[in-house]
Amino acid sequence: MIPVTKPFLPPREEYEKFLEGIWSRNCLTNNGPLVQELESKLSAYLGCNNLLFVGNGTIALQIAIKALDLKGEIITTPFSYVATTSSIVWEGCTPVFTDIDPDTLNIDANKIEEGITNKTQAILATHCFGNPCDINAIDKVAKKYGLKVIYDAAHCFGSLYKGKSVFVFGDISIASFHATKLYHTVEGGAIFTQNEDLLKRMFYMRNFGHQGVEKFDGLGINGKNSEFHAAMGIINLKYVESILESRKSQSLYYDANLKFNTYKKVERCTDTVGNYSYYPIIFESEKHLLEILKKLNAAEVYPRRYFYPPLTKLNYVQHRELKVADQTSSCVLCLPLFHSLTDEEMDLVIKVIDNH
Ligand SMILES: *Cc1c(COP(=O)(O)O)cnc(C)c1O
Repeated sequence: MIPVTKPFLPPREEYEKFLEGIWSRNCLTNNGPLVQELESKLSAYLGCNNLLFVGNGTIALQIAIKALDLKGEIITTPFSYVATTSSIVWEGCTPVFTDIDPDTLNIDANKIEEGITNKTQAILATHCFGNPCDINAIDKVAKKYGLKVIYDAAHCFGSLYKGKSVFVFGDISIASFHATKLYHTVEGGAIFTQNEDLLKRMFYMRNFGHQGVEKFDGLGINGKNSEFHAAMGIINLKYVESILESRKSQSLYYDANLKFNTYKKVERCTDTVGNYSYYPIIFESEKHLLEILKKLNAAEVYPRRYFYPPLTKLNYVQHRELKVADQTSSCVLCLPLFHSLTDEEMDLVIKVIDNH
């Protein structure tokens, strides 16, 4: 059986060492020493200050929307994980979907203006599969209309835009450290902002608004994460270079050996570095995708249709037809990609897809 992904697990003894410390300190959560250590190590590794480790990527999105005090309409992408849209709705805002670019699968910055009304307050875009959006173009529209920008950078650990971590862009960016992501803390996520005031507000928001034991600074929620999750994060950070490298060489192996006759690769924007967090291919038709998927499943290979159906089809949003997203979403398949995937396993996937 070859799944689309497998969570990375470090040697167990390393985790057990951290457990000794947790037991001896008897501090399990509430911004403990391991959470603080992880935050400082992450900001050093990523080259971006001002990050908050939180419970998951979804609560990070919700806190971002709340902290920017958004109400009304948020322009967003239909091609992402459901959390991108559900967070908007959960926070009482209305998602307005803009079509995607057929080559990068990111929101089409040239079409954002079409969706802007007098109720639009922000843009929430996903850097899909770790490939940064056209951030310059998005910034331009945002400036022109006075909109806030949030990036769902859930997939982006290690991705760069113009040589900088993609997490430093937008008013706020968020990451997910869920077990299935390239870098993980079992469950977890982070919020990034370059704005000190916003950072402070979100720092309190993540912990019920507590500003001391008896004092509260505004509305908050439980967005904290624990010492146990931070420990996993600290350990996994030691392995992340080797995880990034193995994904890259696996992706290059697919690149070199797949035929690309009835399907193509996803393209990346100029001046960006991706992180090979997924290996998506785009088929010419859904029919062909389904045929190949059936053959792969028969060979016990289980790729995933990320992201299908498009988020415009959710039963709690205003349905909207978007030509590129509707068409493309039915044709994208993510092939198996994880740190321990072997050449032999990739050979099997390639053989089934290309029918040789
Ligand atoms: C995984 C993911 C999320 C949600 O992150 P969690 O940590 O699972 O809450 C949000 N957006 C995208 C694009 C994701 O892939």
